[in-house]
Amino acid sequence: MAQILDGKALAGQIEKELSERVQNLKDKTGRTPILATILVGDDPASATYVRMKGNACKRVGMDSIRVEMPSETTTDELLAKIRELNTNPDVHGILLQHPVPAQIDERACFDEIALSKDVDGVTCLGFGRMAMGERAYGSATPQGIMHLLNHHNVPLAGKHAVVVGRSAILGKPMAMMLLNANCTVTICHSKTANLVDHVRQADIVVGAVGVPELIKKDWIKQGAVVVDAGFHPTKTGGVGDIELDGIEEIASFYTPVPGGVGPMTINTLIRQSVEAGELEAGL
Ligand code: NAP
Repeated sequence: MAQILDGKALAGQIEKELSERVQNLKDKTGRTPILATILVGDDPASATYVRMKGNACKRVGMDSIRVEMPSETTTDELLAKIRELNTNPDVHGILLQHPVPAQIDERACFDEIALSKDVDGVTCLGFGRMAMGERAYGSATPQGIMHLLNHHNVPLAGKHAVVVGRSAILGKPMAMMLLNANCTVTICHSKTANLVDHVRQADIVVGAVGVPELIKKDWIKQGAVVVDAGFHPTKTGGVGDIELDGIEEIASFYTPVPGGVGPMTINTLIRQSVEAGELEAGL
């Protein structure tokens, strides 16, 4: 029977540790770590994510500054706001909520975030440093997945990991993190021929495609580790990018949906923000 990689439980446990670290920082320096969140436009889902991130800050005793900009914001206006936050000594981390409206050069804006405040791991510089094994904040979702796998002592070295998806925030950094953990990594995408054959060979499968249950249960090798980053609401709750019904009979470990990868993403953002506060304070 498979072991459940319970992200909700682990995130709760980490939050308790973070609350103590924030209190310690306040006691020693009189300062509170602050995350600045930037929301551009009025997409309701993005507004919900930003609110959830602000609430997570509150739960561990951190502060957050909420910057809201109108839908018609230009790239230059957003760049100027990011520069202002970069130089604000009270701000330890900056989160620019993805996606921004189409007229904005999102990549240029991500890359304007100072490396020391890139707690969501979105800059090219941070990605490059992470890939090279240098100190950097990892992209929050794959970094959270690595934390979950390591917490459960999931064997990684020498394993064949197949990452389905190659986005800048998820698939690509996930592949690099698994490579750095000594996996042999295959990255699949929408132009991959014979996706099924690749997944069938995987000791570790990561679903990061954004298509409900695209990866079928009968493609999964007996004993594989199954990590599902997707979440698609349904009338009965939600499904991921992998068909998980009955997966406990096949997998050695798996992330449930919901309650697996999802809670680890915000948790990682907050953990990396606390770390930025500690580093800035020289702790
Ligand atoms: P994305 O930017 O849309 O990227 C999707 C990737 O999947 C692309 O690389 C795409 O290939 C590939 N793909 C799409 N259809 C495919 C197919 N039929 N066969 C093989 N590959 C296919 O999505 P994302 O932002 O990485 O998110 C992926 C999933 O993770 C979504 O379900 C999203 O909701 C979830 N997610 C969860 C969290 C969280 O906090 N839990 C955070 C971020 C994302 P091409 O590159 O060729 O187009």
